[in-house]
Amino acid sequence: MARQVSCETRNNLRGMDNEKKRSAIFSKGLLQSGELYQYLLETNVYPREPELLKELRDMTATHPRAIMATAPDAGQLIAMLLKLINAKRTIEVGVFTGYSLLRTALTIPEDGKIVAIDMNREAYEIGLPVIRKAGVENKIEFIESEALPVLDQLLEDPGNENGFDFAFIDADKINYWKYHERLMKLVKVGGIVVYDNTLWAGSVAMPEECTPEILREGRQRTLEFNKLLAADPRVEISLAPLGDGITICRRMH
Ligand code: SAH
Ligand code: CA
Repeated sequence: MARQVSCETRNNLRGMDNEKKRSAIFSKGLLQSGELYQYLLETNVYPREPELLKELRDMTATHPRAIMATAPDAGQLIAMLLKLINAKRTIEVGVFTGYSLLRTALTIPEDGKIVAIDMNREAYEIGLPVIRKAGVENKIEFIESEALPVLDQLLEDPGNENGFDFAFIDADKINYWKYHERLMKLVKVGGIVVYDNTLWAGSVAMPEECTPEILREGRQRTLEFNKLLAADPRVEISLAPLGDGITICRRMH
């Protein structure tokens, strides 16, 4: 009990009910204060966010699992990376209502293509009208499925080997390493793979006994994945502490 109290104090969660704790854990991103995160969003991100992305973000805000949507600052970084490497063919694993997907579709050229995989089509359909309004549905091949078999299927066609410029992975953390193994064949040398949620609400640096229950399993997966990635000679990496932690990998060979 004493331990629990000191953990709650340590995490600034003292005296909060579960609902409050949940929003406190996620609301300020990873930065030292909520004000700092708001500053970043309000000065650099929101003023430049395309109107339709904002519309999709607002529509998603009332979804019971809204917390899963890609953070707008992370979306901005994804767009920057896509532009830097002139990405044309991309993969997205974990679409939800489509925030990062729409961001990607708006950024790649007219003849660009995204293979977008999610086992839940329902959430995708929430954002689909906005994607249509933006006129970018033609760039998207949505596949309703578990991601792993789709990546394996892509690899059966030799034309897909080294065939992609970019991938954004934002689904079940337990499979991240399996996705990585496939992506090291699908994404070309010099291409980029971005993994989302690699700081897991900051829990990677919390002692396990101080980690709120809702974060524990994800924390463990994230620790394992980050360790493997840090030791992988095939990629250069940078773990950027924005959104919920974004690891950028550039395939070297
Ligand atoms: N990038 C999205 C957020 C994705 S949330 C955005 O910008 O809003 C995670 C998504 O991964 C969920 O929609 C969930 O259905 C999907 N997902 C989880 N496990 C999966 C799996 N094994 N295969 C495919 N999709 C999966
Ligand atoms: Ca995410």
